[in-house]
Amino acid sequence: MKQFVITEDFPENEMEFDKRFSDEQACYDYLFRNRWPTGFVCSRCRHAKYWLSSRKLFICTNCQFHHSLTAGTIFHGTRKKLKLWFKALWWFTTRKTGISAMTLKALLGLGSYDTAWTWLHKLRSCTIRDGREKLSGMVEVDEIYVGGRHSGKRGRGAENKLAVVVAAEKHGKGIGRIRLQVVENCSGNELVPFIKTNIASGSTVMTDGWKGYNSLEKEDYRHQQVFQTKAVNKESVLPGVHLVASLIKRLFLGTYHGRMDRNHLQRYLDEYAFRFNRKNTKFVGKRFYRIVQQSVNSIPFIRRNIILGNINPLVAN
Ligand SMILES: [Zn+2]
Repeated sequence: MKQFVITEDFPENEMEFDKRFSDEQACYDYLFRNRWPTGFVCSRCRHAKYWLSSRKLFICTNCQFHHSLTAGTIFHGTRKKLKLWFKALWWFTTRKTGISAMTLKALLGLGSYDTAWTWLHKLRSCTIRDGREKLSGMVEVDEIYVGGRHSGKRGRGAENKLAVVVAAEKHGKGIGRIRLQVVENCSGNELVPFIKTNIASGSTVMTDGWKGYNSLEKEDYRHQQVFQTKAVNKESVLPGVHLVASLIKRLFLGTYHGRMDRNHLQRYLDEYAFRFNRKNTKFVGKRFYRIVQQSVNSIPFIRRNIILGNINPLVAN
């Protein structure tokens, strides 16, 4: 009998998903195996044996500590069935451009738009994995502005625009993985830590001539500056980040109709990067699997405590 050993176990397609997760117990078991991939381990004493209480608490037979499968996860305290959550998770991860709160509410018959909106934000919070592998090789970096008509001038943080720094790996003529982060401003104090967090040392970082990148010379990177000239237009200087910038602008104008809630912009960007970085995944179900793994990883829970009702929409032109 197979004993909780899980190696990339996921439904490859929608048919398999529907067949597998049609009842609560199947969803519950799947969460269990993703939370404790090698079998139950007590978080307090590392003991491996438990008994299951009538309230579905896993009680360590050694120290009696109570573990709830969903405590500290995005499913914490939910009154909805897990199979509804799983369906939301499936649509969120497998649809090319994700799913809107309005559509999710309608498809699942959720009581309110707010519930659907909150669910999607919780799912977005699972798109970033702590300790994920850094970008490497040749990486383009530039800043863009979201919520404004033009890219505007650097350093002048126009009131209605938010600066976002973009890093894009070069893969031949195409783009590899990307990273996106909202920054307070475009000074070296913001840009260099972003680069150190997201790009492996020893990589070649390509930027334009902006002084915010000057201190990169002192770090463990090869810094290559590219300059726009009359013969070379803006798009062919750092083509990767310019492509990503145009895709993001289209996303916000199309999907979000130019309205961007500045408190949640980072989460939308995280979702976008998750989708972009997995666009060539062979099985759509693998993206679902990644989010389930993150959803039961309780460490990032604090980060997930999103402030609800604190909406400050940013209207783009
Ligand atoms: Zn214990």
